[in-house]
Amino acid sequence: MGEDLERLKRRVPLLEYLNRHHWKGHRVSTGPEFLGLCPLHAETHASFYVNTQKNLFYCHSCGRGGDLIRFVELSRHFSFRQSVAYLAEELAPTTQLLVHTAAFYQLELYRHREGMDYLAERGVHDRKLIAELGIGYARGGHLRAYLQSFGYSLERVLEAGLINPQGADTFCRRVIFPCRQQDRIVNLYGRSIGRAFPHRLLPRSKGGLFAWESVRHFRDVILVEGLFDLAVLWQAGFRNTTCAIGTHLTPTQLDQLRENPDRCMYITFDQDENQAGQNAAHDLLHALDKAGLNVRLVDLPAGHDPNSYFVAGGTAQDFAHLLEEAASL
Ligand SMILES: [Zn+2]
Repeated sequence: MGEDLERLKRRVPLLEYLNRHHWKGHRVSTGPEFLGLCPLHAETHASFYVNTQKNLFYCHSCGRGGDLIRFVELSRHFSFRQSVAYLAEELAPTTQLLVHTAAFYQLELYRHREGMDYLAERGVHDRKLIAELGIGYARGGHLRAYLQSFGYSLERVLEAGLINPQGADTFCRRVIFPCRQQDRIVNLYGRSIGRAFPHRLLPRSKGGLFAWESVRHFRDVILVEGLFDLAVLWQAGFRNTTCAIGTHLTPTQLDQLRENPDRCMYITFDQDENQAGQNAAHDLLHALDKAGLNVRLVDLPAGHDPNSYFVAGGTAQDFAHLLEEAASL
């Protein structure tokens, strides 16, 4: 336990934690100490010291001090045990880093036209939905400085795959969808607005089904391949749509679909010329059928996916008709 605590404290240095929570301190001369207003109470005269070498804080006004865990106890009114759990989970470095990154990309979407133009091209125009899905835009070139202002080290940003070893942003000219699981961002999906590598996920698990918490309550569930498919379907009112991000389902995603055997599944994969989508859909159909689910295959016109179907003028009514016509096994 003691060793784990030390490791936890090393992974989240006190100053980094404070900076992320918008504490502003300035370095005292050239030493390892920073000074600022005490975040534990209101004050106008700075008396809160952070020693980055010892990883400790002390406030000369309220007389309280200690390490990161002590700070969490005091600032959040948590017990020791709660504080440790909080730090281990909520501040799992990458989770928090992805939250900040996604927020940055969301801001960028409104700063550069090309992201919004691309969304419009793909038929996504509902601003409320764009905000709800947390869609953003990575223009490239600015992320590093933004994250460093929160105290993230370059190594950590590199480790998460957000920059390459040369220091350049990994996501460049891409529309970004945060992949959420239990309201937590587990990965970022970037769709290129140009030709280079159409899509890319960060080198980590894609997690479970997209927004499964809000979809699992429906008896009828529509499963699609891509996040743009999901976006247009949600926009058209089909909120019972989830996405596997690709045609290959992880064991977690399969288990999620199988958790309710009374479920009716509508698989709506791309109608690829090379049959890849159709073949994947058939394999999945058999796996789910074996689990006792009522599975149906939605037949889109040749060469279409749900996104292009709506962009080409398909309406919610048309799509509802396709669902009605969907053949079961
Ligand atoms: Zn104080």
